[in-house]
Amino acid sequence: MEKVDHAFVDEIVKAGADRIRTCIQCGTCSSVCPSGRRTAFRTRELIRKALLGLKEEVLSSPNLWLCATCHTCLERCPRQIKVTDAIIIMRNMAAEKGFMLPEHRRASMKLLETGHAVPINTANREKRVSLGLDEVPPTVHSHKDALDDLKTIMERTGFKDLIEKQEAEK
Ligand code: SF4
Repeated sequence: MEKVDHAFVDEIVKAGADRIRTCIQCGTCSSVCPSGRRTAFRTRELIRKALLGLKEEVLSSPNLWLCATCHTCLERCPRQIKVTDAIIIMRNMAAEKGFMLPEHRRASMKLLETGHAVPINTANREKRVSLGLDEVPPTVHSHKDALDDLKTIMERTGFKDLIEKQEAEK
């Protein structure tokens, strides 16, 4: 049986989700969640488990990555809990521990390489030209210096190391 970690919620609070302890388990977040309508993701349950200190269970759950970060729960929560922030905080903790869905790892690798999690493909290049637009958008795709800046940010924040370490361990 999993050891309860009472410091888990303290870590979440310290990282910015300061009202999480005021959750009354009303379930509003789950009922308005567009991801929960199509997946096993249950926001209320995740918050409850976090409050109970079930750190390993929460951080290792693939469901943690099913939130689309749309912020609907945050807008509706009667306790004004920063629910989405809490989820992102827990995802950061999960990523540090090596728990990350392969899809997110792949998107992160693309970001490291190209500056886009979903880089432009041939079909989209052709579509843009057919619409009278430049072949590539005015992003890092067409600004090499901005891509270099972005890569520097990803290195200095530790994001590059984190993702490459995960990629090496997969
Ligand atoms: Fe808790 Fe807010 Fe979700 Fe209600 S809507 S269960 S108070 S997080």
